[in-house]
Amino acid sequence: MEKFRCHSCGKDLPKGSLKYIVEIRSFADFDGYLEEYDGDMEEGINELLDTMENMDPKTIEEDVSKELIYILCKSCMDKFTSDPFQTGKAAFVGEDVKGTIH
Ligand SMILES: [Zn+2]
Repeated sequence: MEKFRCHSCGKDLPKGSLKYIVEIRSFADFDGYLEEYDGDMEEGINELLDTMENMDPKTIEEDVSKELIYILCKSCMDKFTSDPFQTGKAAFVGEDVKGTIH
């Protein structure tokens, strides 16, 4: 039988116990602003393509978006939702912080 553990505190989560799945989806935000490129635009694009050619496609994909899944016990879930990164600040709520992604 598969055994679950809290990803945060390591506590065993036996079958039937209260546990939470936390899915974290992060993706590169685009605010519509492109940095001005000094110099030949075409040269810049070719340079970028060269760089990307040498990169693992998986790495490029992970740079853009990432999905992580954690299993948490009740008390870690409460801690996580009130302060995900333990900064002492409340989490952002809603869509306000996103850029132009729809
Ligand atoms: Zn826990």
